[in-house]
Amino acid sequence: MFETSPENDPHAEIRAEVAKLCARFPGEYWRKLDEVRGYPTEFVQALTEAGYLSALIPEEYGGAGLGLSAAAAILEEVQRAGCNGGACHAQMYIMGTILRHGNERQKREYLPKIATGELRLQAFGVTEPTSGTDTTNLRTFARKEGDKYIVNGQKIWTSRAEHSDLMLLLARTTPKGEEAKKTEGLSTFIVDMRTVLGKGLTIRPIRTMMNHNSCEVFFDNMEIPAENLVGEEGKGFRYVLDGMNAERLLIAAECIGDAKWFIEKAVGYAKERVLFGRPIGQNQGVQFPIARAYAQMRAAEAIVKLGLEKFERGERPGEEANMGKMLAAEASWAAGEACVNTHGGFGFAEEYDIERKFRETRLYQVAPISTNLILSYLGEHVLGMPRSY
Ligand SMILES: Cc1cc2nc3c(=O)[nH]c(=O)nc-3n(C[C@H](O)[C@H](O)[C@H](O)COP(=O)(O)OP(=O)(O)OC[C@H]3O[C@@H](n4cnc5c(N)ncnc54)[C@H](O)[C@@H]3O)c2cc1C
Repeated sequence: MFETSPENDPHAEIRAEVAKLCARFPGEYWRKLDEVRGYPTEFVQALTEAGYLSALIPEEYGGAGLGLSAAAAILEEVQRAGCNGGACHAQMYIMGTILRHGNERQKREYLPKIATGELRLQAFGVTEPTSGTDTTNLRTFARKEGDKYIVNGQKIWTSRAEHSDLMLLLARTTPKGEEAKKTEGLSTFIVDMRTVLGKGLTIRPIRTMMNHNSCEVFFDNMEIPAENLVGEEGKGFRYVLDGMNAERLLIAAECIGDAKWFIEKAVGYAKERVLFGRPIGQNQGVQFPIARAYAQMRAAEAIVKLGLEKFERGERPGEEANMGKMLAAEASWAAGEACVNTHGGFGFAEEYDIERKFRETRLYQVAPISTNLILSYLGEHVLGMPRSY
């Protein structure tokens, strides 16, 4: 239903190739993993080998050197095919902090190995149980001692920590209240979890409503070499913010893929299920919610496209990235609702995959940033109203 061609879409070929790869991982594969909250190792391996997860790493560091719109097309197709990019999307964009702010040694050491998948950088440790969205109040502390940092504290919702070799960690390096500005005093580190697991680092999985491999992570005098500091000490919050537009646009693309999957399923079923002597899709009560979700998805897609274009021109697409992520997450949810309703009782049956996708797509109204915080951004930074928090 949503196939594109090279005449109207520069990424039509990539999309077709990703769709082909995803066809090897049908609903049954995801259902089995969902049951045991397992990790899709084979799927992630296949995407890695095909070079999709290194799309954004420049060629000089062994990646494909593609633009953000190509990465968005890849993730959209993954979701549209019924797969779950949440298992590995971070491998695409977390490395951006090393690429933009790391030194040449760090780039040469890590990026080529991240590109081949020899090193998995899937874990991003920002959120903490006490500070939540209020990132500048995080408590995990990294104290410098000679040529190392000693880290104490805790993170929560660190996704894929058990399936990653490295973690990008945001920790405080200046005690709260002593930093020059509220946004300073935090630093980013590359943590090689293989060297500290069980030696200061403890990872505990959290069982959630969908299969997302998210974890609690505890640091107890965990030592990291000082050379693993990325960029300048105290500037970590700014570095993390720098990567947020890309992250939001990519998550939005995933939601658009989800919406397309739900719409395609709903339309197909609405046309083929016959009750009272006619297809259920002939009833406006069934047809209109699907049509509305389609319109919402197309609107979100248009904003995301503007954001990707701005990003690729080197501009800051804060407005489009935030709006696009919010609208796409709402569109995928509306499409999910319409799809469940269209399928009646079958929408709840596991073998249709609808209930699984429904649970999976719900996340994106909360993470990586909640809708309220996006509205706050728009209210303050776009519309010039007073800061609400
Ligand atoms: C499955 C999953 C995976 C995740 N993966 C990661 C990860 O890999 N790494 C990571 O660092 N984090 C991750 N997160 C964390 C995620 O980014 C946070 O859950 C999200 O940012 C919200 O933070 P919180 O849960 O602490 O909610 P809180 O910050 O406690 O907020 C609770 C509610 O209050 C609202 N709220 C808070 N402040 C305001 C305000 N000023 N104005 C209006 N409303 C407000 C929020 O919108 C939200 O609805 C993940 C979360 C989940 C559930």
